[in-house]
Amino acid sequence: MKIVKFGGSSVGSSQSIQNVIDILKQKHASGEKFHVVSSAMGGVTNILTDLAQAASEGYDFKTGLTEIEQKHFTVIKEMIAVKNQNPTFTQIKIFINEIEDLLQGVYSLQELSLQSKDLIISYGEKCSTFLLSQIAKQYFPNSLYIDTSALIKTDNNFGNARVNTPLTEHLLKEYYQQHTENILFFTGFIASNENNRITTLGRGGSDYTAAIIAAALDAKEIELWSDVDGMLTADPRVVKKGFSLSELSYTEAMELSYFGAKVIYPPAMIPAFRKKIPIVLKNTFNPTFEGTRIEEHTHKNMYPIRGISSINEISLINITGSGMIGQIGFSGKLFSLLAQEHINVILITQSSSEHSITFAIEPKDVQKAKQLFRSEFELELETNKLNPPIIEENLCVLAIVGENMKQTPGISGKLFHALGRNGINIHAIAQGSSEYNISVIIKRKNISKALNAVHDAFFTQLTKTLHVFSVGTGNIGTTLLRQIQAQSDFLRDNNGIEVKISGIANSRKMIIDEEGIDLTQWEKAINAGEVSNMDTFIQKIKLLNLSNCIFVDNTASPVTGTYYKELFESNVSVVTCNKIANSSSYKEYKDLRDTARKRGVDFFYETNVGAGLPIIRTLKDLMTSGDRILKIEAILSGTISYIFNNFTGKVSFYEVVKKAHELGYTEPDPREDLSGKDFMRKMMILARDAGYVVEGKDVSLGAILPESCINAPSIDDFYKELKKSDSYFNQLKEKAENENKVLRYIGKLENSKASISLEWVDSNHPFYNLTGSDNIISFTTERYKFNPLVIKGPGAGAEVTAAGVFADLINVGAN
Ligand code: ADP
Ligand code: ASP
Ligand code: MG
Repeated sequence: MKIVKFGGSSVGSSQSIQNVIDILKQKHASGEKFHVVSSAMGGVTNILTDLAQAASEGYDFKTGLTEIEQKHFTVIKEMIAVKNQNPTFTQIKIFINEIEDLLQGVYSLQELSLQSKDLIISYGEKCSTFLLSQIAKQYFPNSLYIDTSALIKTDNNFGNARVNTPLTEHLLKEYYQQHTENILFFTGFIASNENNRITTLGRGGSDYTAAIIAAALDAKEIELWSDVDGMLTADPRVVKKGFSLSELSYTEAMELSYFGAKVIYPPAMIPAFRKKIPIVLKNTFNPTFEGTRIEEHTHKNMYPIRGISSINEISLINITGSGMIGQIGFSGKLFSLLAQEHINVILITQSSSEHSITFAIEPKDVQKAKQLFRSEFELELETNKLNPPIIEENLCVLAIVGENMKQTPGISGKLFHALGRNGINIHAIAQGSSEYNISVIIKRKNISKALNAVHDAFFTQLTKTLHVFSVGTGNIGTTLLRQIQAQSDFLRDNNGIEVKISGIANSRKMIIDEEGIDLTQWEKAINAGEVSNMDTFIQKIKLLNLSNCIFVDNTASPVTGTYYKELFESNVSVVTCNKIANSSSYKEYKDLRDTARKRGVDFFYETNVGAGLPIIRTLKDLMTSGDRILKIEAILSGTISYIFNNFTGKVSFYEVVKKAHELGYTEPDPREDLSGKDFMRKMMILARDAGYVVEGKDVSLGAILPESCINAPSIDDFYKELKKSDSYFNQLKEKAENENKVLRYIGKLENSKASISLEWVDSNHPFYNLTGSDNIISFTTERYKFNPLVIKGPGAGAEVTAAGVFADLINVGAN
């Protein structure tokens, strides 16, 4: 025989009750024997609680009561044949009238005791279970409604009563023996004390009712039917990637539910464990789901933890003082005082010096705990042996749970790393001696981010989500979004990475969508977005507080870089192809790196030099592996390479520049390239990354253009001047051709000096053979002293630059 319990949402409407009936019919048809426990209709216990409170404060309760009545009446009309409806209407009306009398009494007295409250809310289960039994009777005539409060006996702890197990078992058995032919419909949640006053078993207590009955009647299984696919690795409302577990041990289920996984009420595990009755968590809205089985022994699975849960609201009390040191029984006294006052202590940590005890309680109990402490330890406080308690509010607990943790080292390291990387501060830590649970206390506002980050860290074969905010929708920005879209399936399937573009901004418009912007429609979406404002954009990123968050700067704007530090401080990584921040003052360059390092986030800018070529990465690897840079020689302007590579034979310099311009190889004003300014920025970043303190003014910059071209007031004038300078450039070319050399614009870093100059190089020089718009760089180091390390390839263009940004993005958080 099985005990099957249906939760509030399973009996919340006619449609869901129809599912319940179908489930029962199927069991019946397959010859399975069962009895039913039912919760109140979804939301009814809350409404009754609110009505009782309202009545006690002199507010109207009638409207709410009518709502409850209508909820039940609607189901009667929809689920019971007209000719049979009357007895059900009558009984529900009787219950409603009784509630009304009670609420009227509370209203008149303006007083609500825990005892009256229990009595009032007990009607939720009475109404729903009676109703369900009447509906079931149409299919199973032997259905019988039972008010379980007469059979489950408890102490007087109203609101959260403790069960007298021997007496309860005796009563249940006795009753059962007299009704062996019936399908019994038990009210969940409610019980009574020895004076037959109604008590309740704590919120969510119908699960407990089911387990108590199952243990008393030696059921072979308990099924708890709810609205989710069993126990998930984390609360599915917060962690979208949470997945269903096929099995759990009683201990694991107990720990997870104690720390907030509401799908099962923790005390329900006690009777089940005592009698070794398996509990199966099922989904009324997805009956084909096999269920999560909770049993004593489970199979080993591949993950180090079973799940993550959280208690969303707690307060922390920290007690310090010399009076505690060596005082045997101090904590015993403290906690028994709290227990006497029914203050539930959620977790405790004590420092080994015994100088402090920290414990977590529900916020509603803080004042009571403070007063209690003051009155009980008055003397110690006055003589300064104890300090006044320090209260920390707006906190929550995150707990990772699993029996596998016991044998696996490094679990807490992983937990702390995931939190630290996301800038989440830990206020206190507790590890149960069983090692089945590690709990951390963190700020409430971080809970969603923390749960997602920790989930990603432990269930790594699942996809890790990167939340990306991309700024700039020019050539590179647009190409990047296209590349991400094209690659997303591959990344998910092969690398376990999901790139979610959570925001896009350009100089005109911006949009933010936490759920991820559809990349096939991003242009439409941004056009419909709000007017762009970088301040607001950054504030929104901070406010969303998402895990694994990356800001991508694909602009050439001097503004975006001014936000990097603020982003790092909010634990957002930055990936940029914009060179401005890195090539501003050395102080700023250094400050950005220090801040990123301190915050444990990444700052990647591979595309600052040589587009997608692995130059910055190589330099970094050389440096971190202990090599020393002796000399760098490089051609890092794709535009200038193109121009000199084509400035041969009869063609004039003017014509080559014009052609390069037309082909889109130059900046809108070609002087940006030809002045060497852009190249200088790259040299400065390289020099700094190679460990040199260099400012812009320290890079000596040899000019390519005559003064007249540089000073021309417009681009048209510049071209006129350039044409006039043909003979100057022809001279340069002829000199090269006469000496069998080629013209190259080369950057150098040597003896801690950086320079860029126009040179004539012969065929022995490694830079002689350079085609198209290629970049080339050679590193002479302690290790690569006689044969320098050379990197060569296309160093310009939207495709390769966007690909470089993309690679940086994927590498965020890799270490
Ligand atoms: P019922 O009324 O059926 O007893 P509850 O509302 O008490 O249902 O519990 C089910 C809810 O528990 C789910 O809807 C889900 O939002 C929540 N929940 C929290 N943590 C978890 C988890 N780890 N796995 C499954 N559900 C969870
Ligand atoms: N109806 C009660 C509650 O809402 C008991 C339960 O649903 O398990 O807490
Ligand atoms: Mg429940």
